[in-house]
Amino acid sequence: MSNLKGIAASSGIAIAKAYKLAVPDLSFKKESIKDATKEIERLTNALEVSKSELEKIKEHARASLGDEHAEIFSAHLLVLSDPELINPIKDKIESEQVNAEFALDETAQMFIQMFENMDNEYMRERAADIKDVTKRVMAHLLNVSFPNPALINEEVVVIAEDLTPSDTAQLNKQFVKGFTTNIGGRTSHSAIMARSLEIPAVVGTKEVTAKINDGDFVIVDGIDGEVIINPSDDVIASYKEKLQQFEQQKQEWAKLKDEPTVSADGTHVELVANIGTPEDVTGVLNNGGEGVGLYRTEFLYMGKKELPTEEEQFESYKAVLEQMGDKPVVVRTLDIGGDKELPYLELPEEMNPFLGYRAIRLCLERDDIFRTQLRALLRASVFGNLKIMFPMIATLDEFRQAKALLLEEKEKLVAEGVEVSDAIEIGIMVEIPSTAVIARQFAKEVDFFSIGTNDLIQYTLAADRMNERVSYLYQPYHPAILNLVHNVIEAAHAEGKWAGMCGEMAGDSIAIPILLGLGLDEFSMSATSILPARTQIKGLSKEELASYKDTLLNMNTADEVEAFIREKTNQ
Ligand code: PEP
Ligand code: MG
Repeated sequence: MSNLKGIAASSGIAIAKAYKLAVPDLSFKKESIKDATKEIERLTNALEVSKSELEKIKEHARASLGDEHAEIFSAHLLVLSDPELINPIKDKIESEQVNAEFALDETAQMFIQMFENMDNEYMRERAADIKDVTKRVMAHLLNVSFPNPALINEEVVVIAEDLTPSDTAQLNKQFVKGFTTNIGGRTSHSAIMARSLEIPAVVGTKEVTAKINDGDFVIVDGIDGEVIINPSDDVIASYKEKLQQFEQQKQEWAKLKDEPTVSADGTHVELVANIGTPEDVTGVLNNGGEGVGLYRTEFLYMGKKELPTEEEQFESYKAVLEQMGDKPVVVRTLDIGGDKELPYLELPEEMNPFLGYRAIRLCLERDDIFRTQLRALLRASVFGNLKIMFPMIATLDEFRQAKALLLEEKEKLVAEGVEVSDAIEIGIMVEIPSTAVIARQFAKEVDFFSIGTNDLIQYTLAADRMNERVSYLYQPYHPAILNLVHNVIEAAHAEGKWAGMCGEMAGDSIAIPILLGLGLDEFSMSATSILPARTQIKGLSKEELASYKDTLLNMNTADEVEAFIREKTNQ
């Protein structure tokens, strides 16, 4: 038995067999062969097994993610049946008397290079398809197992270097009981997705992939951030008990599901949820969310081969708005870039993607993409209580330009006779220090602020949110952060506007009393954090916490802040 420490990214406990999600070692040697017919037969078998796997994956993708995702696998199947690729491999085996692995690799590489060099996006995509598919065929030739997360059909804990948001979206909750990764922090997107899927997760363990083998028995403790490998029976029993206690606690929390969020001295605040897809709305309602404070629309754009159409987007936005009824839904416009890539946009590689061409910067330049999204949102606005916010706003000009495009599209739609709500609030994410500092100026023009601390902290302390090496600098309670947050809230209130927070800090039990005292109006968090937060707020006095404001804002370090709050709130 051994233990690994990591970051508790999504609460709960998972106990199951390990499933390693890593591309296996596909290295091989060139070998001379004597029996070409037999070698071709080996190749044919590997192709057939790969095809039948891909058929299953395609069906799975169609059922769980829709036709469009399934199309990716149709393209892969076409590659495997294409005589233009397969015949040259067979010819090579025969004419050069070489093993199938070598013939496959040489031929595939030749096509990949040829397609990659073409000045045609469609052909370059084919290169990517060939790359993907040959890995699978190679794994079968070498008799090593190739991970197929979509095909998992027994209870497992997924072990990976990292999970991309689209990997995470493909995990079937019925079988994937938890996951653990080498890299990432509480605010990396795999962690955020784990919380919306309500799968226990421990991230940033640095060495789970090295320490765990396929089939090992593993406990993922997403409450305390621990991974236990091949535990003894006693340890399993104690974790089963811990899991039971956690379930009991959840039942206690659930009693507040339909209650408003009110502090001990009667202040009402809104507890709303962060979502990534329309499917997440069920979790929001089951966890007593009073609205959606952040709908990250970029997941609509990811894990596919082209931009979503206006119609597709409209359907997703409408679905969320309708399910939420008259509860507020804050939709954030496309925030791509940083760790959220869109391969089909073919953006040039950057030295500092988090400081680069992303989010509103990209949308204002690619206004074709932006206008399509705005139209879809405006059309959906009549189906619920929509608020729109722009991400990564650094200057007032950016906000004015984005708002002008929104109003232009609104005017066009109205002229076309399309009904659009007149009550849409337009706000911004405050996640760049420049904006937090001049929040007073912004407050005159925006309808609301939503503070994005995941980025605000990384930009204020200059500490990459994905990098465990500098994670000691990623300090939500740093007095600089508290002062910026305070500035934003004061600025909003001075203009009669509201201020919310949709970064992970909003659901943190040390931060909640601070934010309540600073006067935050809306707290947006993972759906599963809502009921524990409501329970906590019920026991807090806003007036008392507000009286600590000056003390907290003038403290020297994050540790001082944390110790003070722990003492005052008995944590
Ligand atoms: C944030 O930066 O706090 C935020 C909510 O946005 P994201 O995590 O998607 O960057
Ligand atoms: Mg952000």
